[in-house]
Amino acid sequence: MKAIYLKSGREKSVLRHHPWIFSGAIDHVTGEPSIGDTLDVFDAQGTPLGKAAYSPSSSIRARIWTFDPIEEISLEYFSKRIHAAISMRNDLQLFQHQTNIGRLIHAESDGLPGLIVDRYDNLLVVQILSAGIEKWREVIFDILKEETGIENILERSDVEVRKLEGLEERTGIISGQLPQPEIEIVENGIFFYVDVVRGQKTGFYIDQRLNRRAIQDFSKGKDVLNCFSYTGAFSVNALKAGASHVTSIDSSVEANQLAFKNLALNNIPPERYTILSADVFHELRTMRDKALSFDLIILDPPKFAPTAAQVRSAARGYKDINLLAFKLLRPGGILATFSCSGGVTQELFQKIVADAALDAGVDAKIIQHLAQGPDHPIALNFPEGSYLKGLTCMISK
Ligand code: SAH
Repeated sequence: MKAIYLKSGREKSVLRHHPWIFSGAIDHVTGEPSIGDTLDVFDAQGTPLGKAAYSPSSSIRARIWTFDPIEEISLEYFSKRIHAAISMRNDLQLFQHQTNIGRLIHAESDGLPGLIVDRYDNLLVVQILSAGIEKWREVIFDILKEETGIENILERSDVEVRKLEGLEERTGIISGQLPQPEIEIVENGIFFYVDVVRGQKTGFYIDQRLNRRAIQDFSKGKDVLNCFSYTGAFSVNALKAGASHVTSIDSSVEANQLAFKNLALNNIPPERYTILSADVFHELRTMRDKALSFDLIILDPPKFAPTAAQVRSAARGYKDINLLAFKLLRPGGILATFSCSGGVTQELFQKIVADAALDAGVDAKIIQHLAQGPDHPIALNFPEGSYLKGLTCMISK
């Protein structure tokens, strides 16, 4: 029988329904399983705990499908999980407020470790990040088509983490078609082009939807600086909500080209925006040296700490940009600052921002805590699913 036997005492996290089994917790593996095979999981006494997918080359050696030892891992199993994830989004009325994009499946948090499915109108963009999902890919594609009624599926499994799983990168059309690489979508009633083929992640930072709406409330009449602006989503939101001017900074020339197109698509006159292709760390210093100032600054950097190992250097990066941003704020100004690093907790992030305010010599208050949207839920048994954290801070006049 293909099975994993845990070391004595190492069943605790499984009993708490955490889906990851690390190599160090395993006593022995039986049945010579291949990559992605389904295994029975037992504690050291031989008590069955559930079923998992085998990832022989990863330190996360197995990911649990079910904590019910008698549940079969079959087409029915995947149908049930995918149906549950999609009906949750329907219950949340995700596609209200003139929005036709959203995350339908958020991996571990939806009980499908390693599977990401984002919907962009009538296109599904899929990322497969684990050996277990890879094994069931054809079954999953068929179920997705049936559950959503959407024929067009694009795979974007061009992510580093696949290497850890012993998988090659894979991209391309799975079924249906992609009329053009840049598709047009609507989010919060605002239109965007999304490059689903070459863009970052699956093309758009869908997890920031509600935070973009939150920024609108503070934008009217404001002079805004949007750092790490990607294709200009926060910039267009601020301008649509009445910002007088927005300066966007991103180091990606391709992202900036699309940002220009997105501003034009929403009929924003060019005198109301500036887009800089630059390094934010460098540009913020230049702005400080020129004594520039802004009413509202957005900091949405890339993941500085993908895992706990990089937390120290990430903390230095966050401190640096937040300190500079506080210095560039006018009295009464607002900073909306984010971290999408899994390794940086909400508590640590708040501490870094507090240190930055102290060193910048400003008195700041948190006026909002922000997080990923409800289509990126966080299973309570999987706290790692909580990765995006944000603070809106106002400085004193
Ligand atoms: N706020 C964006 C998403 C930001 S993702 C949105 O809502 O769509 C992070 C962005 O930071 C990416 O576009 C990446 O190109 C950019 N980036 C990464 N390092 C950078 C740096 N040092 N300076 C400027 N931009 C950088």
